[in-house]
Amino acid sequence: MPTIDGARVVADLKRLAEFGRYETGVHRPTYSETDVASRHWLAEKFAQAGLEPVIDGIGNVFGYARGAARRLLIGSHSETQPKGGWLDGALGVIYALEAARVFRDDPGLAGLGVDCVAWADEEGHYGNMLGSRSFTGVLTEAEIDHSRSREGVALRDALQAAGFAGKPRIGVEPGRYLGYLEAHIEQGDTLDSSGLRIGVVEGIVGIWNYRVILEGQQNHAGTTQMPRRKDAGVAMVRLATAIHDRFAQIAGKRTVWTIGRMLLDPNAPSVVPGRAEMQVQFRDTDETILARFAVALEELCAAADKAGPCRCMIEGMSQTAPRLMDEAFEAAIEAAAERHLPGGHMRMPSGAGHDAQVISHKLRAGMMFIPSLKGISHHWSEDTREADIVLGAQVFADAAAAILKAG
Ligand SMILES: [Zn+2]
Repeated sequence: MPTIDGARVVADLKRLAEFGRYETGVHRPTYSETDVASRHWLAEKFAQAGLEPVIDGIGNVFGYARGAARRLLIGSHSETQPKGGWLDGALGVIYALEAARVFRDDPGLAGLGVDCVAWADEEGHYGNMLGSRSFTGVLTEAEIDHSRSREGVALRDALQAAGFAGKPRIGVEPGRYLGYLEAHIEQGDTLDSSGLRIGVVEGIVGIWNYRVILEGQQNHAGTTQMPRRKDAGVAMVRLATAIHDRFAQIAGKRTVWTIGRMLLDPNAPSVVPGRAEMQVQFRDTDETILARFAVALEELCAAADKAGPCRCMIEGMSQTAPRLMDEAFEAAIEAAAERHLPGGHMRMPSGAGHDAQVISHKLRAGMMFIPSLKGISHHWSEDTREADIVLGAQVFADAAAAILKAG
């Protein structure tokens, strides 16, 4: 099995974090000057690892292992959230780089290769997972024409300024890969709070979002007698409580649900609210549980509507399908974790979205997590113990070797 160089992994992560350093984290939005500079730096690192570097028309950075008979594609995204952390995305890219280096140097792995990739804009500064969706062929030219950043910058202009416009966009080359692997920090506290150090990702959750609207009668808060009121705010709060109670009864082991947005209209202290709106979201890797939640939510809304005095309406806003990871890849990651850390790992879903869910439509895909201290992410204070970073790189490289050897 390959032996990684832990100090080299940590040094490369720290160097990458210099591009856009902010406090102890990184501010490196997609196609910003620091992001473009970091992508050229990554291309250079890929070249030093013996890979052929190519930056494509959406800003994905590839490093091709020429001459290998069997290959995995390994990587993650390299931009960050605004004032984000130094490991979110970067970890998976540097793990890929390290895997490529040990594969190059280990005679026992001759003929087996790792292609590295740093995807563009997983974090959604300009769109939804632009880089991996470009690679899998679902990002259209029309979508690129219309996409803008939150600040209003056109994606076309950003690509032009970055120097990526006019380059071909690289797609999946049929037959080139056994599959895709991605390592990532967990971004939750499941590992950190349980003292475990490796997460074997079983799937990436589907996310279903609904808007629930309550319609009553706006009126004077002093003169409207209580029995005559049609208070949309009261109706919403009661319904929200009923939803939380019902979901708790029907949830799977790891289902999560959130009412993260509530609005009252007109939202004034001396006015009985005439209209209220809330958004209800739930996540699970099991589509049957998601469907069960949807039925329960619709039933509760229908019952609230029937009971009155307010009308209750529900509309679906968005639904993403859960994506399961490849079982053989899961087993390989688990076996590698068990070799280095008996009993110190667990299988778990990913509650956050990742490029692997996009790639899983075209290639067998696997994901591995390492702990996030206190579960903090999407914040500059995000961090992971150095020993966990090094251990993760070793387990990950071992898993890649096992998958490639098994063919
Ligand atoms: Zn990420």
